[in-house]
Amino acid sequence: MGSYAQTQNTNNALHLEIQQETAAITDSLIKVRRYLHQYPELSGAEEKTAHFVAQYLRRLGLEVHTGIGGHSVIGILRGAQNGPKIAWRADMDALPSEDPDGVPFASKHPGVRHQCGHDVHTAIGLGIASVLSKQKKDVKGTVYFIFQPSEENYKGANAMIADGLFDLIQPDEIYAAHISPMPSGLIATKPDYVFANYRQLKLTFEKSNIADVEQVISDSRSILSELQNVPSEGPFWNNRTLLDPNIGVGSPTTIFKDYITVEDNMPVEEKENTIAVSAYLTLSNPTILDSLPTYVERRLQTSGYANALKSVSYASDTFVYGEQRKQLINDAVLTKEVLSRLSSVYGDTVVPPMYGVIPDGRGDDFSFFQERVPGVYFLMGGSNFEKGIIAMPHAPNFNVDESCIPSGVTFFSSLIVERLYQ
Ligand SMILES: [Zn+2]
Ligand SMILES: [Zn+2]
Repeated sequence: MGSYAQTQNTNNALHLEIQQETAAITDSLIKVRRYLHQYPELSGAEEKTAHFVAQYLRRLGLEVHTGIGGHSVIGILRGAQNGPKIAWRADMDALPSEDPDGVPFASKHPGVRHQCGHDVHTAIGLGIASVLSKQKKDVKGTVYFIFQPSEENYKGANAMIADGLFDLIQPDEIYAAHISPMPSGLIATKPDYVFANYRQLKLTFEKSNIADVEQVISDSRSILSELQNVPSEGPFWNNRTLLDPNIGVGSPTTIFKDYITVEDNMPVEEKENTIAVSAYLTLSNPTILDSLPTYVERRLQTSGYANALKSVSYASDTFVYGEQRKQLINDAVLTKEVLSRLSSVYGDTVVPPMYGVIPDGRGDDFSFFQERVPGVYFLMGGSNFEKGIIAMPHAPNFNVDESCIPSGVTFFSSLIVERLYQ
C-alpha cells in the first residue's frame, strides 16, 4: 500500500506517521494473523488467543486487564495529556466448520476455523495499538482496546458488561469494524441501521370473540406473509447482489432499502383466553418498524376480526442463539462526522457511500456496547475479485485479501487520532 493523497487536514503529520509505521509492521501483522488462523478457538474457549493478545499489548507497554466476562483482554493506552477517551473493539473467536480452507496456513484445530475474519480483526486491533503506542507522547486522551471473546454466540459483549467492563473503562465513543465482501481497501458504514432489524410481530385475539379459531390463524398468517414487500425469489436473496453496482447496498437505487421480509415459520401461542399468531420479520429501518403495527391493526379492523383483536405488537425480546437480541444502531451524528473525517484524510474513494441495509437479522453483539456508549460499526472490505478472494463471512469459500490488514490499521488509527484531536 502506498501513501495516500491527502487533502487539508490539521493532523497530517500524524497521519503520515501512521502510514509509515503501518508499513513497517505489516509483515509482522500478517504473521500474527496467520498464526491466529492456524490456531482458531471457538466462542468461550479463546484462552490461547487471549494470552497471545495480552502478551502483545504488554510488550507495547499498554496497561492490560484480562478475564473480564470470559477470555477478554483490555489494553489501555494513556496519552501524555488528558483528552477524549476512545474505544476500539475487536472480536477474537472462530467458528465450528468442516468446510475445507484453501490457504497454506489452514487451521490445525480440526472442525474449527476463522471463517468470519475475527483473526483479521484481532491482527488489525493489535496493529492499531502498536501504531498508536508509538505516538504516545503526542496522544491527548486515552485509547481503550477491547478484545472480545464469544461474539459468534452473541454472549461476549453482554458478559463483559455484566462483569464490570464499564467500571474499568469509561469511553466517550466506541468503534469496531467487520470484514465484508467489498474490495479490500474500502470501508463503509451508514447512520442508524447497518444490518436489518429482526423482530417478532404478534397478533393477539380474545378467544371468546372468535367463532372459528383455525380460520383466524390462517387469515392472520396470510396478513402477516403479505407484509413481505420483496419477491420471494430473486436477486434480493443472493448475497452477491449486496455488491451489485446498480442494486447493491452502495447504489442510491439499491433494492436493500425499505424492505420487510417474513419468515415462513409463524408460531401460534394458545393461552386460556387468548390466541396469538406471530411472524418473524426482517426490517430495514425504524420508520417501517414503527409504522407496521398500526398498519396491520387497520387491516384487521376491516377483516371481520375487529372485535376479537386484542393487540398487534412486537414481542419485547427476540433471540439470537438463545440470547436476547439487540439492534445495532450507529450514532447518526458521530457516523456522519467520522465518515467526513476519513474522507478528508484519505479521500472519498476509500469511503464509498452506503445506501442499503444488509438483510442479516443476526447483526453483531457490538450493539450491546453501542447501547452504553455512542459508537460506529464499520464494514471493511476484504475481497479481491481478480484473485478470486471473496470475504463473505461464514461462506464455505470465505477468504481474505490480507492487504486489508494494513489498510484497516491505517484508516482506523487515523480515525482514532481524528477523534482524539477534535
Ligand atoms: Zn460470524
Ligand atoms: Zn464476525
